[in-house]
Parts: sequence; structure tokens; C-alpha cells
Amino acid sequence: MKILGLNKTTLLDYPGRVACTIFLGGCNFRCPFCHNKDIVLMSDAIDAYSQDEIFAFLRKRKEILTGVCITGGEPTINNDLPGFIADIKQLGYKIKLDTNGSSPAMLASLIDNKLIDCCAMDIKNAPEKYDTTVSFPALTDVKKSVELLLSQSCEEENGFSYEFRTTLVKELHDEADLLSICKWIAGANAYYLQPYVESPGVFQKEFHAHDMEALSYFEHLCQTYIPNTHLRGI
Ligand code: SF4
Repeated sequence: MKILGLNKTTLLDYPGRVACTIFLGGCNFRCPFCHNKDIVLMSDAIDAYSQDEIFAFLRKRKEILTGVCITGGEPTINNDLPGFIADIKQLGYKIKLDTNGSSPAMLASLIDNKLIDCCAMDIKNAPEKYDTTVSFPALTDVKKSVELLLSQSCEEENGFSYEFRTTLVKELHDEADLLSICKWIAGANAYYLQPYVESPGVFQKEFHAHDMEALSYFEHLCQTYIPNTHLRGI
């Protein structure tokens, strides 16, 4: 794996925890609205961290941080991810994994072995539009990951929770798409809708966010199927 970023402190990435975020390079998807182009393409312009540097940091911050968010890129394309997470957990941290859901077998293994405490999985679009949106034959595996997460109990004593989330782009997502997504993930533990925000690192710059009225409408629409639906990042 290539560690291409470290956000040393975040109150946002891991709900309810003071955490750091580790960015792993590379991704199998090519979402045109992705804002982490350099991390996805593993640009030589980014200096990679060694694992020694990361673990030295995590040992030093043990009294301040309680969680580590692992994001990307797509972390699960790295076969050495489970071992990396196991070593972090040995230090006593809770782990949140951000994933595009393309590796259901690895996700199942991480959950079964209690290596992750929280998972945020992106839903990129309605099933009918999925592969086109991400420029990858993703839907079959993404559906397996959705089923896997829907089958998880998020009771306190289980020690695991998950959320689905969608970045909404005016040019890519309309009401029919949201309805299709909601029917697919109905009954989910939590669903977050995030408006697209343009940034310098985005793959394609021709996109826009929905206005607030549309976002609120989508939120209420989704709450019919997933009561715990909320807007985020507005
Ligand atoms: S948005 Fe996520 S899944 Fe899509 S290309 Fe970027 S890192 Fe990969």
C-alpha cells in the first residue's frame, strides 16, 4: 500500500471521536466528481509516508486520539490492508473504514474479524447507472457489499456501525435516481446525502451542486425509506 496522506486531527471524519485520517493511494473507480484525483492516480507529486512514520505518529497521539479513519482512494484494493489495520488496532484505536464497496469479501473478513468498528460506504448512483457513473464494472460487487452491511446489527453491544452516503451532483442524480437508491438500501442504519463541492483536485470540473430546496426535498424523500437520512456538509 501507498500512504499518501495523513490528516493528523479531525472531528468530522469519524463521528463521535477525535480521530486522524490516513489516505491510501489508488482506486479502481473513476468517479468524474472525485476530488482526490492525485491520490487516486497516485501522483508522484505526493510524498508517501512510510508505515514507520505512521505508527510513530499513532503511538505518540494515543492519549489524544481514539479513532483512525482509513480512506483513499479505495483502501480495500490493498491486500495488506487487514494486517495494517490489525497493527493499528493493537495500539487501542477504533477503526473507521471508508469504502466504495467493490471488495465485499475483504469487507466481510474485516467485519468478521472485528478489525473495523465503523464503515462508511459510498453509493455512487442508482443501480441502473452505477457502472457508467464510476467507469468500472462495479455493480455486482457493490450489491454484495450493500447486502452485507444491511445484514449487520448496529446495536451498541455489537460494537459495529455503518452508514451509506451519496455525493449528489446535479448533472448525475435526479429524483428517480434517489428513489431507486432508497428502494435498494431501504432499512439502512444511516444514510447521508452530501452536496457536490468543486475543488482543485476534481477529475472533471463541469459539475454543480443541487440547490438547498432540492437537497431538502431529497432528504425528506429518502427518510420515507431510511428514517435516519440526513444532509451533511451544507
Ligand atoms: S470518489 Fe472514491 S471511489 Fe470514486 S474515484 Fe474517488 S476515491 Fe475512487
